[in-house]
Amino acid sequence: DPRNNLLPYILHPETHLEVIEYDADFVVIRDRYPKSTIHLLILPRDPALYTQHPLHALSSNPDFLEKAKQRVAHVKKIAASELRRQFGLVSKSDAPYQKALESLMSSPDPPSPSSRAKLLPQGRDWEKEIISGVHTHPSMNHLHIHVLSRDMHSLCMKHKKHYLSFTTSFMVGLDEFPLEEGSPRFHPGDWPSWDMLCWRCGRNFKNQFARLKEHLEEEFEEWKRE
Ligand code: 5GP
Ligand code: ZN
Repeated sequence: DPRNNLLPYILHPETHLEVIEYDADFVVIRDRYPKSTIHLLILPRDPALYTQHPLHALSSNPDFLEKAKQRVAHVKKIAASELRRQFGLVSKSDAPYQKALESLMSSPDPPSPSSRAKLLPQGRDWEKEIISGVHTHPSMNHLHIHVLSRDMHSLCMKHKKHYLSFTTSFMVGLDEFPLEEGSPRFHPGDWPSWDMLCWRCGRNFKNQFARLKEHLEEEFEEWKRE
């Protein structure tokens, strides 16, 4: 069953190229069909957790929720630094950072990566371009938390359900947990019939996926240059 295809990463993280990091608690991987420029998944490794429904596990287990939040915060930093690597040089608001970095690195004694941060100006806040959460009705069986950039610009973004699943209340953010028992968030209703709204300007594309895709192309060009 292809729905079990996330399990091998959990069992044998050392054998998979898509694995970014792992420890006893979590494996962090690249999504094989990314729906945005950056798309990572966080997988808990405890069998008692990974067989649970994410909404249930994150609402009923405060220890797991706390650990998950901490890991998401960490993985958001990884995703943000990847955005900076890809778009830092074209981004207007990142220019002060890029300029300072360039002069720092051309000095006779360049600092180590870990000590660079405090020597550089803020630049663009790339972390605010990263979203995270779980799907109300996941398609894959093993518990996973999505961490992705919010551009929705990707060849793998192929149909309406893909788009809606990351841009509506079908996605539940980590900061929304724990959900109360009986919360309407457990039952999003007829979500595939909802309209598609541009994540950036809010324009309503109703059911017109091809037109939305064209528009996302334009928004992507502006967004990375912000
Ligand atoms: P869900 O809709 O269940 O919340 O998301 C499952 C995610 O797993 C999707 O974004 C999908 O692209 C990703 N995925 C599915 N199969 C594989 C796989 O074999 N390897 C990796 N790395 N990601 C996968
Ligand atoms: Zn727009």
